[in-house]
Amino acid sequence: MDAEIIAVGSEMLTPQKIDTNSLYLTEQLNELGVEVVQKSIIGDDRSRLAGEIGAALKRTGIVILSGGLGPTEDDVTRDASALALGRGQTFRQEIWDEIGARFARMNRKMAENNKRQAYLIDGAEALPNDRGTAPGQWIEQDGRILFLLPGPPKELKAMFERQILPRLKERLPALVIRTRHFRVAGMGESDLDQQIAPVYTKYANPVTTILAGAGDIHIYLRARCKTDEEAECLLTEVAAPIEKILGDRIYSYGGESLEEVIGEILIATGRTMSVAESCTGGMVAERVTSVPGSSKYFRGGFLTYTDEVKTQLLGVSKDLLAAEGAVSEAAAREMAIGARKVLNTTFALSVTGFAGPDGGTEANPVGTIYIGLASDGTCDVRRVQFIGDRERIRMLASQSALDLLRRRL
Ligand code: ATP
Ligand code: MG
Repeated sequence: MDAEIIAVGSEMLTPQKIDTNSLYLTEQLNELGVEVVQKSIIGDDRSRLAGEIGAALKRTGIVILSGGLGPTEDDVTRDASALALGRGQTFRQEIWDEIGARFARMNRKMAENNKRQAYLIDGAEALPNDRGTAPGQWIEQDGRILFLLPGPPKELKAMFERQILPRLKERLPALVIRTRHFRVAGMGESDLDQQIAPVYTKYANPVTTILAGAGDIHIYLRARCKTDEEAECLLTEVAAPIEKILGDRIYSYGGESLEEVIGEILIATGRTMSVAESCTGGMVAERVTSVPGSSKYFRGGFLTYTDEVKTQLLGVSKDLLAAEGAVSEAAAREMAIGARKVLNTTFALSVTGFAGPDGGTEANPVGTIYIGLASDGTCDVRRVQFIGDRERIRMLASQSALDLLRRRL
């Protein structure tokens, strides 16, 4: 079955506040094998909201409303729902008593407008709210399900888990969800999509989602089937050709980060690494050391920003820097070799480049990065050219450096 989420609240139409409830609800629904096919945000406007609820109930099996169940004039969800359903509302003494008891427990005086919260849409089932006053409501009409949940995330989550989940599970066919999560480095999103779209667009199940960050693309496959075997089989059917197309550009098959993958391999093979960074200012080392247990393979690193320090700490020749510049293949090579020698590691990575926005030369414009990888007896240097702002270029440079090491491993 498909679902639709309507987040109610004018504050989410301002630049200050975003709707996060729907992200939580989507995650939960996906677990049940329910796809979210549409989301909307409607301000605190009764007729606009009623229109949207009516339209949603015509097209989607499960419609979920979040927010606007409070006691004030701008809480219009109950009224709008009743309007859309063509039903009345009835004051329920037992709900009112519960709200009263809650106020009494908290030693708070109850305002008269709280009475609004004790109205139930005719035919609705009240959903107790353990974390707040406004009860939720569960309503069925013409085979469709509509439920009203409170806006505060804590209340919404508690109500979803305790009230909605068990009811939905009873109603939905038992489906298992199996997922695959690949991560890819070293290619752009559109390039990747062009290559693998012919594979995954043939399938509505599994659902394929592609998310791209700087130099890092996530591919999620989610299959929903009657059995584990069926789901795994279907996933493999789609994953195998994707793996074949992308080859070793896939660095992770379970969602691990590049630095985690590198750590696992280094530990397994008893090897060590170090870094010498210039334009990334320690980002590579920061990422490597963010992995618990990285002390087993990461010995240390150098942040050598000026020419002088490159010479002082890493032994990069002054003449070389004068002749070729610090952003050069030769400088990257000497930085990596120097770091490896001083710290006595199996591998050393170096990064030097122009992150911008100023600087750069005709031969090496802003965005040019040299990455060195020194190992026993050799040092490879890769020149890469990125576009983007300073932060993006630095991020891409750190990603490329780690990926160069990963491919070597
Ligand atoms: P209350 O009784 O607290 O008024 P309510 O059900 O009327 O509850 P709203 O008034 O719509 O809910 O929202 C209360 C608060 O919950 C908002 O100020 C906001 O901080 C948060 N909230 C509401 N909707 C969302 C949402 N979709 N995502 C994240 N936070 C939300
Ligand atoms: Mg409110």
